[in-house]
Amino acid sequence: MRCDYHTHTCHSMDGHQTIAELCESEIRAGFDEVCLTEHYEPMHPTPGADIPPKLEFLLADYRAAKKLYPRLSLRLGIEIGDNPPYHDMIARWLDEWPLDYRLMSLHLVGKLDPYDRAYFSQFDDRRELAYPAYAQAILDSLRTWNPGEYDALAHLGYCGRYAPYPDERKPLLHSDAPDIIDDILRILARDGKALEINTSRFNKTKRVIPDPSIVKRFRELGGEFIMFGSDAHRPEQVGHGFEYAYQLARGFGFQYTCRFDQRRRAVIPIPD
Ligand SMILES: [Zn+2]
Ligand SMILES: [Zn+2]
Repeated sequence: MRCDYHTHTCHSMDGHQTIAELCESEIRAGFDEVCLTEHYEPMHPTPGADIPPKLEFLLADYRAAKKLYPRLSLRLGIEIGDNPPYHDMIARWLDEWPLDYRLMSLHLVGKLDPYDRAYFSQFDDRRELAYPAYAQAILDSLRTWNPGEYDALAHLGYCGRYAPYPDERKPLLHSDAPDIIDDILRILARDGKALEINTSRFNKTKRVIPDPSIVKRFRELGGEFIMFGSDAHRPEQVGHGFEYAYQLARGFGFQYTCRFDQRRRAVIPIPD
């Protein structure tokens, strides 16, 4: 069974596809299940970025798509762009949504998003400072969450996506912050949470996030579950690199991925 557990539509501020367009591309790409993970970015400083989806509009579209594409199993999730000082507000907000899946993510390191050049400028572009600071922010974020409040961690290595370094120096490696990354992976493994392999730039870079050195380490530290997500914001971004990602995970000894239905997890084999 092929599942895509990271997708955005026009219900996210940066999405460029309707739910119907997403479903059409997912079916064309051979997926059986797709989970919507629209952005929720509380207090993100970029104007407009912090506006959450309107639940009633999203639900209406979601239910219509479920009827229109009965062959595709459609799930409702959210990508939580964490902002640790607002944890309690975020947790309360999430409890009001009828979610199948909660994908924990971090786009803000302090008050800056590594999407923004200013994030790197504050470190004089020094990679050896900018990358560990990002990893530490993820660790600080995870430490504020109870295990029951989320299901998986998204794109560990997001700091490299828009980083001002040559392509081969962009990925966050395990060796960039080994102790911090180990602590992150230990929390996920201990609490039975999944690590996401995100294929959003695979078409251009032939890489996934996280770097293989981190995926490998997750297994060594007892991690069991990998989620796979294309992070598609447009129809043409659906499903790239999944075969590579499946092989990568299997090659390090992972056997299982998960499906989620009203936060209940079902464990299934990673496709061949
Ligand atoms: Zn993200
Ligand atoms: Zn995303």
